[in-house]
Amino acid sequence: MNSKQKTKTGIIGGGPAGVFAAIFASENPDNEILIIDKQDILKTLLPTGGGRCNLAFGEFDFKELVKYYPRGEKFLLSVFSRFSTADTIAFFEKIGVKTYIQEDFRIFPVSNSSSDVRNKLLEKIKKRNIKTIKEEVTDTEIKNGKFLIKTKNRTILVDNLVIATGGRGIGQKLAKKLGHNIIPQKPALCALKTEEQDFFDLSGLTLKNISAGVFFANKKITTQTGDLLFTHSGISGPLSYKISSYCTYLDFKKEKPLRIKINITNRENFEELLIESIKKNPKKDIINIIDTYIPHGLAEKILLKNQINPKTKSGQLKKEERKNIVKSLTEFCLNITGTKNGEEIVTAGGVDLKEIEQKTLESKIVKNLYFCGEVLDIDGLTGGFNLQNCWSTGYICGMTLK
Ligand SMILES: Cc1cc2nc3c(=O)[nH]c(=O)nc-3n(C[C@H](O)[C@H](O)[C@H](O)COP(=O)(O)OP(=O)(O)OC[C@H]3O[C@@H](n4cnc5c(N)ncnc54)[C@H](O)[C@@H]3O)c2cc1C
Repeated sequence: MNSKQKTKTGIIGGGPAGVFAAIFASENPDNEILIIDKQDILKTLLPTGGGRCNLAFGEFDFKELVKYYPRGEKFLLSVFSRFSTADTIAFFEKIGVKTYIQEDFRIFPVSNSSSDVRNKLLEKIKKRNIKTIKEEVTDTEIKNGKFLIKTKNRTILVDNLVIATGGRGIGQKLAKKLGHNIIPQKPALCALKTEEQDFFDLSGLTLKNISAGVFFANKKITTQTGDLLFTHSGISGPLSYKISSYCTYLDFKKEKPLRIKINITNRENFEELLIESIKKNPKKDIINIIDTYIPHGLAEKILLKNQINPKTKSGQLKKEERKNIVKSLTEFCLNITGTKNGEEIVTAGGVDLKEIEQKTLESKIVKNLYFCGEVLDIDGLTGGFNLQNCWSTGYICGMTLK
């Protein structure tokens, strides 16, 4: 009989990051691994990618991959040098999840099912004898160099503690109590509210592959591209998510506005095209010319905003009116008044990366304490980057504990 005492590791949070840490730490049979989660393990994986689980992004050069993280870019260089896109694909293939790369480089399971990915990971947990407890952790304490994990019903003593509670769990509070600095948390990848209300009734309308210049206090800070979805309070969709990610920490107000400027025609030479169309169709209603470039409802709103009757024959349009239409369409402006809280996909902020060892994911403050996943001050754009962060930091954490 093996009388060697096992090393006990408690992982708070059974999301993608905690599960990866558990799987790799359990490669050493002398490790006893316990995941404590208040809900079913990997429940948070189910809604990802709209139920399809966009589990990574097809960028195989880790130095390029880090550029998709508004927070965590430098930290992830070392992490991704050890576990990145190709490793993710290989790992999932090994556990029976074949993947494919979509045209836009997002990576999905061939089954297009996040529950398939979850089930395969759950099988692995079972095979490795990783224990799970479904209880809410309320507190942790350090006692004689070990950790006490407290739930309502019990106190568990472990040698190593991994906090993997994501962006909205108890992790940041526990980390703070254990001496860590927390970068204030803000919603990222979320819908944006706009000052302009005249587009609210276009809710549901999408403009494909639109580029937007983003201006803060009248200075251009970034250009982002993606689909733009009008909502009943502003905008949403991939373009809005990207903008929100870059702007979540900006303190914008009336005197320092956050403004986006879009060429909604998506054509560089729109004025020339319009002049040509008018020349060819002088008897056509102007609305029926404009709506060949942008959706009818939006075209109507923009004409009315410029006090132009949509039924005006295009040949009768005054030069000044034509100029106004061109400006409204190519420099379509929206003033952002805030983010739509509660509906964010990820949270920016979290455990300060300065206090975490990149090579091990161990705390620089408390020995044998580890963090992985979204609990850290890391967040990526949409495209599979946030799950990649979980797989990679979870892997490093698990391998350190192995
Ligand atoms: C709708 C939606 C779609 C998404 N789609 C994608 C996508 O397609 N691709 C992508 O890359 N990213 C996607 N994301 C982001 C991605 O899901 C997260 O970044 C990722 O789940 C974070 O993983 P994590 O393990 O760090 O934390 P989480 O997945 O949040 O897991 C943390 C776990 O900790 C547990 N926990 C928290 N507090 C306690 C406590 N007190 N006691 C016990 N347990 C606790 C929670 O129950 C949870 O199970 C999406 C997010 C959302 C909301």
